Amino acid sequence: MSEIFKLELDTPAYKGGISFPTGLFIDGKFVKPVEQGKIDVVNPSTGRVITSVSVGTSKDVDIAVDAARKAYKTSWGLKVPGSVRGQMLLKLASLIEQNLDEFAALESLNVGKPFAVSKIADIMSTVACLRYYGGWADKVHGKTIEVSCDPSNWRSSHAYVMNILKTNENKLAYTRHEPYGVVGQIVPWNFPLSMASWKIGPALATGNCIILKPSEITPLTALKLASLVNEAGFPPGVINIVNGYGNTVGQSMAEHPHISKVAFTGSTLTGRKIQEASAKSNLKVVTLELGGKSPHIIFDDANLEQAVKWAVRGVFANGGQVCTAGSRIYLQEGIYDQFLQLFTEAAQNLSKNTGDPFGQGVLHGPQASSMQLDRVMSYIDSAKTDGATIHFGGERHGTEGFFVKPTIFTDCRPEMKIVREEIFGPCAAIIKFKTEEEVIEMANNTTYGLAAGVFTENSARGIRMAHALEAGSTFINCYNTLDTAIPFGGYKQSGIGRELGEYALDTYTQVKAVHVNLGMKL
Ligand code: NAD
Repeated sequence: MSEIFKLELDTPAYKGGISFPTGLFIDGKFVKPVEQGKIDVVNPSTGRVITSVSVGTSKDVDIAVDAARKAYKTSWGLKVPGSVRGQMLLKLASLIEQNLDEFAALESLNVGKPFAVSKIADIMSTVACLRYYGGWADKVHGKTIEVSCDPSNWRSSHAYVMNILKTNENKLAYTRHEPYGVVGQIVPWNFPLSMASWKIGPALATGNCIILKPSEITPLTALKLASLVNEAGFPPGVINIVNGYGNTVGQSMAEHPHISKVAFTGSTLTGRKIQEASAKSNLKVVTLELGGKSPHIIFDDANLEQAVKWAVRGVFANGGQVCTAGSRIYLQEGIYDQFLQLFTEAAQNLSKNTGDPFGQGVLHGPQASSMQLDRVMSYIDSAKTDGATIHFGGERHGTEGFFVKPTIFTDCRPEMKIVREEIFGPCAAIIKFKTEEEVIEMANNTTYGLAAGVFTENSARGIRMAHALEAGSTFINCYNTLDTAIPFGGYKQSGIGRELGEYALDTYTQVKAVHVNLGMKL
């Protein structure tokens, strides 16, 4: 049995302690890892340690996979009716909702996002996602398929042809959408619980057992979720949560011969490693949600007030630690000055309302880790070296915690690192353009393809642009309005496969064709 940690929160947003176990969750129990490792969990608003939790190794992954395989054979998969699996997902969603404040407080404490934002963008979106897939669990089915009589196949004997011609009477063919069995799920630190729900929901709805690895930086809400799994009714071994580092636990999941699929959200670099490990082990199915450097394009005819508000949200929300962040903002020359002025005022306002996520009216929190702070500051340094202008921000906010001011770069050129590479911080590169053709060329000139936005009052142009932009999600007169029912994923090096919506169900099932002879004779 692992330790139970009681976190005392001295904040008006959440009164009373929050309890959660700090061990690994394997086979329906919290356990200590085989090698007894621990990792400190840090509050990014202060830089101080919140608590420490267990970290596993490949040995714990092996134990979790064995438990998951056993559960899959005995008490899960298609043996359990979809409606029952769905009820468990719905129950889990309700339990999380009943503990909304506790979950949101943990996310704010560990990631630094404003408490009100954690409640909606993280925890309620998790609840919605689990409910959505709970609803799908008894609606995933195959098809009966009419047999084809392709004349090009009519080469064999007359009798055989005659049989073929009668095949729809003599043959039944249908498909089953079967789970993979045991799937691995590796999530990042920017939306810890919500990213987990995008994976847990469709995997369980379709009857898979899971090994989930939260980010080593932000494990708290996954541990809290683990404490509700038994109450939701899931049999032991169906959901296993193995906290740990990427290069140990994560890598061993990617290499594991009995994990049939890995779903990953994180950097393109790690995604490549996971694909390599999979290729070298058992050719497991890999779906990847990776980074981005998304263009947000504002035409002269845009509703400027709205465009500014959406662009601010698009690039500065969650401290810019959003894979779809609209971090390259292209402004048509007619509105350049006016947009920049309004956008700068909005950044000033965010800057004034920067601070502890539980503070009244706080809109802008810290970067999630000291590593992320260093990474963002090094990009700001590169902007200076490369000759961009720091129009606003470009420095830390205060000296405690990992805060960076909302930052606006102007005089950006396409070859600069701040225009080409994902910063994952509150940094917007502003670029001027003249024509539609020119901006399409610039926007698509990237190895990424996660998202793209366009603001224009000309609806034909909006749609034309949405079709021309090479990205998995395109937004017209809005930005980052993701929804559980709408598929999400990347073009180019931003990913493989789709999460969310009905599309995600396909990535957790394999199709089996069943041929039944009802009377064909040779
Ligand atoms: P990361 O790739 O370093 O880590 C993500 C997860 O992968 C963590 O759980 C980590 O422990 C694990 N990991 C690290 N090395 C591993 C390995 N060798 N094998 C298996 N797992 C390993 O990314 P990060 O820095 O934590 O997160 C930021 C990146 O994630 C950004 O590039 C961002 O764009 C991307 N991201 C993408 C999406 C999306 O939906 N496309 C969402 C959030 C974040």
